[in-house]
Amino acid sequence: MKVTAGQRVVVVVAHPDDESFPCGSLIARSVAAGAHVTVLCATRGEQGERVPDAATDHLPLAEVREAELHAAAALLGVATVELLGFADSGFDGPVADGSLCAQSIDSLSALLVARLKHLDAEHVVTFDGSDGHRDHLHLRAAIEVAVQTSTAALTMASLPNSLMRRWVSEMQVMQPDTVYLDIDLDALGAPDDELTAIDAAEFFELRLRAIATHRSQRSPYDGLSPDLQRAFLAVDHVRN
Ligand SMILES: [Zn+2]
Repeated sequence: MKVTAGQRVVVVVAHPDDESFPCGSLIARSVAAGAHVTVLCATRGEQGERVPDAATDHLPLAEVREAELHAAAALLGVATVELLGFADSGFDGPVADGSLCAQSIDSLSALLVARLKHLDAEHVVTFDGSDGHRDHLHLRAAIEVAVQTSTAALTMASLPNSLMRRWVSEMQVMQPDTVYLDIDLDALGAPDDELTAIDAAEFFELRLRAIATHRSQRSPYDGLSPDLQRAFLAVDHVRN
């Protein structure tokens, strides 16, 4: 991802926290290069699992997560945040009317084409959905169609299978009752040979702070060994 000063980078994500968890250092890198970064967030993440917090428990989760998104984006140096207004589809269960996954790929990609054109996007950044969340995968499919009619370069953050295997091993020790004990290890994340690793050590601390801003959400990196945490967060893994 070669971004230069003054270029326009549009980061398209499904939920508040996707700008920081998978894409935080790609945003920080763009901002450091002098780019103008816009985050387009498809939903307000109201189906996310909520971490209890006496300060915000009385508020709707959508409201809390939208505020967290704005705070994390500001920390990362994002210039503009736009919500696309779809409902969070959730990880599984029936797809509700108005949710992201209820939108056809055609209509979603047409919307993205219009937004990318309006924003004069030169780079598009997103997450490839390698964690298996259906909103992430649906949005990725629409973005892949949308960029075909655009000159913008697409960068997709990903989760390498090798690190996901290490993550499962550590989770099995930390939370022996986790559902991940039963998961197909080969299907986790993306094959390593489809990814390029880019050093992002200089953005590691900032990325951690952006992640911590999402107080209503449990970080999948919490409690990991420092070595594995750095392997995930001090390196960007992007699709070739
Ligand atoms: Zn998400």
